Amino acid sequence: MRTVLVSACLVGRRCRHDGDHCEVPWLREKLIRKGYEIGAFCPEEAGGLPTPRSSAQIAGGGGGAVLDGEAAVLTRDDIDVTRAFVLGAEEAARLASVSGAELAILKDRSPSCGVREIWREGLVVSGEGVTTALLRRCGVRVMTAEEWSVDPDSR
Ligand code: SF4
Repeated sequence: MRTVLVSACLVGRRCRHDGDHCEVPWLREKLIRKGYEIGAFCPEEAGGLPTPRSSAQIAGGGGGAVLDGEAAVLTRDDIDVTRAFVLGAEEAARLASVSGAELAILKDRSPSCGVREIWREGLVVSGEGVTTALLRRCGVRVMTAEEWSVDPDSR
């Protein structure tokens, strides 16, 4: 069975910074129907951050810049949580490697999981989160649930 990494909040785990989830109701069933084993994963928790936690945004770039040491992840109280975000991304990449996952379906606009967009300085901008950037560098295809729903693989 092939494994897909999925942002845990998309399949109902209450791991968001505010203690809530953002479940996409059809996602779990559709993935199972397509023969996937779901590797539900929250990189921010894996990086050692608690739930609930302060919301955070990338300052000075995108996820790739964070990995390259050129940008930081800061909470709304200006606490630097870059290390936790990078640790979580590294754990996601390790999971993808050991499970053979070639696909990840992640939550857009998150500083970890953002696929096409992220929040920066209070605005939604084009970009990817730290975990997305590292997974892509490792050759994993990263999509939003909405993108996957119209992908030939999901039909
Ligand atoms: Fe969801 Fe990713 Fe944020 Fe965890 S880090 S709550 S999986 S968007």
